[in-house]
Amino acid sequence: MTVRVFQKGFNFSQDGPGNRLVLHLQGCTLRCPWCSNPEGIDEAGGEEIQTSALAAEAAASAKLFFSGGGVTLTGGEPAMCFEAFTELLGELKKKGIHTAVETNAVQPRLPEAFGLIDYLMIDCKHYDSDTHERFTGSGNEAVLANIEAAARERQQLHIRIPLIKGFNASPDDARAFLKLFRRLGAEKADYEALKYHEYGRGKWEKLGLEYKVKDGFISKRAFGAFTKILADGGLRLIAT
Ligand code: SF4
Repeated sequence: MTVRVFQKGFNFSQDGPGNRLVLHLQGCTLRCPWCSNPEGIDEAGGEEIQTSALAAEAAASAKLFFSGGGVTLTGGEPAMCFEAFTELLGELKKKGIHTAVETNAVQPRLPEAFGLIDYLMIDCKHYDSDTHERFTGSGNEAVLANIEAAARERQQLHIRIPLIKGFNASPDDARAFLKLFRRLGAEKADYEALKYHEYGRGKWEKLGLEYKVKDGFISKRAFGAFTKILADGGLRLIAT
């Protein structure tokens, strides 16, 4: 089987533990207006590569996987083409490589791959399904079901919340997220709040697409207030 890769490179500790080969797989199930990799959203594009060839390439770089590193699959959405995704993870595991996945968790079959993922990062963009759909094009039901399953079935889970002003970053939003994570039984996960940035703006413009976020930046104070509510509620906040 093949996957399409639109970007790859090494990165230390930002996309999972240690020094990692980060593979960005082409295609995404969502359409977030703040996406920093809009070139990876469309299913077409990227370089088509056999999963076995990618795993062999990763194994050849094994000496670079220091400090507990390995390979991270991200995107786009790496679990979108689920069969190829699990095949690639299986090939990496066969070679003894530590695997990490960064996912929007819209793929309902994600739990089938838990056994192949050493380090799982799930993005949780909004607690309310209608708002999630209005901004990203899809509701959050599968995302929440996957978080619940991961919290129940896995020892490790890392949840990331991209904070965007006017979308999900107010104190009320923080309280609603906290309530949600408790309801999902995910109090033991690691949490990371990510400040809105505009690294993708130039790429959207280059692709001839309109960058629709007007002012998503959040202040240091708003960020502090948001994370304090989660931490006071007993969640473990980490920074990468
Ligand atoms: S889920 Fe991630 S890759 Fe997909 S559109 Fe949203 S930000 Fe971009």
